[in-house]
Amino acid sequence: MVVGAGPAGSIAALVLARGGASVALVDKANFPRDKACGDLIGPRGVRLLDDLGVALPGALRVDDMAVIGPTGRRVRLPCDAGLTYPGYAYALPRAQLDATLRQAAVAAGAEPITARATDPLGGDGGALGGFALSTGAEVAADVVIGADGATSRVAEAAGLIDPARVLWGFALRWYGADPVDVPQILLWDTSPGRGFPGYGWLFPGVEGRSNVGLGVGVLADRTAGAEAGRCSDAFFAHLHRVGLTGSDRPPASGRLGGWLKMGMVGTRPAEGRVLLVGDAAGLVNPLQGEGISEAMGSARAAAEAVLAGPDQAAARYRSFLRRTYAPYQATTASLHRAMLGRPRAVSAVGRVLTAPGVGRALAGAWSIYWNDLLDGAAPGSARRLAAVAAAAGRVATSAGPTRRWFDEALAAAS
Ligand SMILES: Cc1cc2nc3c(=O)[nH]c(=O)nc-3n(C[C@H](O)[C@H](O)[C@H](O)COP(=O)(O)OP(=O)(O)OC[C@H]3O[C@@H](n4cnc5c(N)ncnc54)[C@H](O)[C@@H]3O)c2cc1C
Repeated sequence: MVVGAGPAGSIAALVLARGGASVALVDKANFPRDKACGDLIGPRGVRLLDDLGVALPGALRVDDMAVIGPTGRRVRLPCDAGLTYPGYAYALPRAQLDATLRQAAVAAGAEPITARATDPLGGDGGALGGFALSTGAEVAADVVIGADGATSRVAEAAGLIDPARVLWGFALRWYGADPVDVPQILLWDTSPGRGFPGYGWLFPGVEGRSNVGLGVGVLADRTAGAEAGRCSDAFFAHLHRVGLTGSDRPPASGRLGGWLKMGMVGTRPAEGRVLLVGDAAGLVNPLQGEGISEAMGSARAAAEAVLAGPDQAAARYRSFLRRTYAPYQATTASLHRAMLGRPRAVSAVGRVLTAPGVGRALAGAWSIYWNDLLDGAAPGSARRLAAVAAAAGRVATSAGPTRRWFDEALAAAS
C-alpha cells in the first residue's frame, strides 16, 4: 500500500501498478486539492515525468532564475541543459499537478482510497503490516510506502523519526496578480546586516498569476515556524521596494502554509517492510527547499526496489539513497544547520554572492550546486567550479554529527 497521493505517492503507485503489483493508494484528501508550494518542478522532475510518459497539460516552461540580494543587486542564474536533464523547469499549480499524477496512477491500475491512515496493523513477526483507516476499513499490505508528507504518520508509527535531529522549515504561499517572466528569489535582511533565516520568492504562475511566498528554517523547533507569518508584512514591503509588486501588502487570496522536512537527517528512510519517500523521508533540498523532483525520484526507486522483491526492498532502497541523494543532502544539511542562528553570516553570504562581478562569475556553478544538478551536468567551467564547491563542502562537513547520522541511517544492514 502507498499512504499519500502527492507527487511521491502517485509516482510510487504508478510504477508499482505498471510493474504488475496490486497497490492501494490512500490519501485523506479529496482531489483536486491545494498544497502550499512554489509550484515549480525542477529539471530532474521534468525528465522523470518524460521518462514515465506522463504529460502535464497546462504547465508553463520556465528556465533561468534571478536572485536579488539584501542590497537589491540581482544575479541571473542560468538553467542550462545537462546530460541527464533539460534546460527548463515547469510551473503548474499543485492542485493540477497532484490531480494529474494521481489520475495517471489510477489509470495504471492503482486502487484509490479516500481515507486517513490512522493506526498501524501488525504483520509477520511484529512488523508493520498495513494500516487501519479513518473509514473503519483496514488495508493489509506486504509493503507500506510512506508518502504522506513532512509530518508522516507512517514514519511516526514505524518509529523512524529522531525529532531532535530533524531540520524543519515552514513556508507561506500566496497567489498574486504581479506576473513575472523569471522566477525571483529574494535574500533579504530583516534589519541592517541581519539576514532572514530563509528566503522569499516570486515565481511565474499560469494564467498570468504569480506564486509568492516566504520560507523560514527553524531546525528542530517547530514553534519558530510562526516567524514566516510575523515577517510577511515586512517581506511584502521589501518586494514592493525592489519593484516586483504593485502593492506593499500580501495578496488577499491563496494564503496557505506548509512544513518542509529538509536534508533527510533525523528520519531513517527504510526498515523492514516500510519505505519512506519524498517529504516523509525529509528529501527536500536544504539550500532552496525543492522537493518535488526528489519526491518523484525517490518514489520511483522505492517502487522498483519493491518490485525486485519485498524482502530486500529496504536495503536496495537505502543503497539507492546512499548513492543518489545522501552525498548532497549530508553536506547541505550540515551547512544549513551551521548557518541558521547566525543572521550576520546569512546576510554576508547573500551580499557577497550578489556583489558586482562575484555573482556573474559564480552564476553558472551556483545554479548547478544550489539546485543539486551536478550529477549529469554538461562539461564546462560551471560544472568544474560546482564540483570544487561540492568537494570543499564535503571536506568541511565530513567530521560533523550530521554526516555520522547519514552513515548509520543508510548502512547496508538493518
Ligand atoms: C510553501 C512551500 C513551497 C514549496 N515550493 C516548492 C517548489 O516550488 N518546488 C519544489 O520542488 N518543492 C517545493 N516545496 C516542497 C514540496 O512541496 C514537497 O517536497 C512535495 O510536496 C513533496 O511531495 P510528497 O508527495 O512527498 O508530499 P506531499 O505533497 O505533502 O503529499 C503528501 C500527501 O499525503 C497525504 N497524507 C498525509 N497524511 C496522511 C494520512 N495519515 N493518511 C492518508 N493520507 C495522508 C496528504 O493529504 C498529501 O496529499 C515547497 C514546500 C512548501 C511548504
